[in-house]
Amino acid sequence: MNHTGHCLCGAVELRTTGAPEAMGYCHCTTCRTWASGPVVAFTIWKAEAVTITAGEEHVHTFEKTERSKRKFCRRCGSQLMIAIPTLDRVNVFATTLPTLVFKPSLHVNYAETVLPMRDGLPKLKDFPAEVGGSGESLPE
Ligand SMILES: [Zn+2]
Ligand SMILES: [Zn+2]
Repeated sequence: MNHTGHCLCGAVELRTTGAPEAMGYCHCTTCRTWASGPVVAFTIWKAEAVTITAGEEHVHTFEKTERSKRKFCRRCGSQLMIAIPTLDRVNVFATTLPTLVFKPSLHVNYAETVLPMRDGLPKLKDFPAEVGGSGESLPE
């Protein structure tokens, strides 16, 4: 199943193919600062499953680290996705894909939370071990 998404001004459009590999919430300071919110909802895709279909020329990339290329629309400032080249994955913000039913399965970087969420889902201190994190869980 495909989903299409776009930025606030509509200049940038993207398409995802298939289903995301994971969905959840990130509580890290970097995401919170970038998104101006207390938490962000992410969806993780294989890089090949995400295509920018219009407005590529408006997409600007900010790299705080080599691990994450944060892509946003230069016209309206909407945050679209974060490419993670070391894992060949792309994190598309759930809000960018309005037709995707968001079903979170975990929280990451919960050690940095400013908005504790008692939803019964696993709360990882940082990242899962399979992507280079400690894999450690924290209590709600
Ligand atoms: Zn835009
Ligand atoms: Zn984050």
